[in-house]
Amino acid sequence: MDFIWDNKPHKIKTNTLIGDKNEGGLKLSEFESMNKALKASWVRRFNTEVNAPWKIIPNYMTRHLGGFKFLLSCSYKTKELSLKNIPCFYSEILNCWETVKKIKAEIDQEKIDLYEVIIWNNHEIKIATKPIFYESWHKAGVTKVKHLLNPNSGKLLTYQEFVNLFKIKPSFTVYYGLLHAIKNKWNISPSGRQSQTLKQNWYDDEENLSNAALHKIIVGNKYQPPTNENRIISYGVEPSEIKKIYKWPFSVTNNTKLIMFQFKINHNIIYTRDKLKRANIIPDDLCYLCKSEQHTIQHMFLKCSHVALFWNEFFDWWSQVTSENIKLPDSTILYGPTTSLKHHQPLSLALLVAKYFIYKCNLNEQSLLFSLFKTELRENIMTERYIAIKNKTAKLFNEKWKCLILKDFVPEILPSPTSQ
Ligand SMILES: [Zn+2]
Repeated sequence: MDFIWDNKPHKIKTNTLIGDKNEGGLKLSEFESMNKALKASWVRRFNTEVNAPWKIIPNYMTRHLGGFKFLLSCSYKTKELSLKNIPCFYSEILNCWETVKKIKAEIDQEKIDLYEVIIWNNHEIKIATKPIFYESWHKAGVTKVKHLLNPNSGKLLTYQEFVNLFKIKPSFTVYYGLLHAIKNKWNISPSGRQSQTLKQNWYDDEENLSNAALHKIIVGNKYQPPTNENRIISYGVEPSEIKKIYKWPFSVTNNTKLIMFQFKINHNIIYTRDKLKRANIIPDDLCYLCKSEQHTIQHMFLKCSHVALFWNEFFDWWSQVTSENIKLPDSTILYGPTTSLKHHQPLSLALLVAKYFIYKCNLNEQSLLFSLFKTELRENIMTERYIAIKNKTAKLFNEKWKCLILKDFVPEILPSPTSQ
């Protein structure tokens, strides 16, 4: 795909690039790029959702770099940052975002406005071979190269001018060390900036950060395998089957909430109390429901005494619906099936909705009422039913949900006189 990429990628329609599986496996790349776009599109959520609780961990773990949101605006290279034990998911967001910005800069043949360059975490401004972040400077308002310039002369501020202006007093050598690092990279002309760009960054426009828009940028770029698959393998999933696991939620539903939820399970970034405790955010890590064992993903979905009762009810109900007894391995409950299940589509959706229900009950410290789960499942199917009526795909819908329609769980779509 690289050769396509090198040759004016923006003029090639996505459809041309993504053909059938038989055409050299491009279909697979489509999925990988979608995966990347999905990760990069979290940037939008970082920019828009104020005070969302899920931001606590990434912000906390990057506080020595100015926090996650600030970091995203920097010209960093992920591998050069000291990210310590940040969960893989977040380093992958950084990685994908780095890739997207790089590709976009190549496409646009962007000219860098030196004055607007953010100094911190910048891969081109290094001291002792490492990018830097000086918290007290940042707090005092020093973020971009232009902040270190005298607005009148256009020259870099002298040490005394700097101290007077920002009311902070780094050591003389630290100050000149940084100026040196900047001058080393760029030749700041004393005549002031040649052309002042008032243009916004492309990513300041929220629309450019949608999953679809990012996917368009990424398509064609090299595939990099995800890094956190050992956990999935430890549940008995073959490495060669992991791709099926990643695809599973996309094939089950169009509900983005559910897809993202499974995506977070796959990447081990669901909020569990053990993670919050490890980040020193809460004092204990006991389960919300049984309050006796450590709250991990495994405990929440598989091992908790409350959830065990829930799954018993679930499988009893399912055997009533289908007149078949089934037992699913832990790996299927947690990550989805790697081979087709009996009543694959209905059971898959039921599993996904059940897990999301368990998760919500945990957060709200509510007991796992089976009737409530059934209501949620019904709502999901009814949404699909509504879409099927609109799209005139009644036949498909009735076929897909047959086992539940027969039990009056959801109503069949009856043929209308005008459409079949
Ligand atoms: Zn428990």
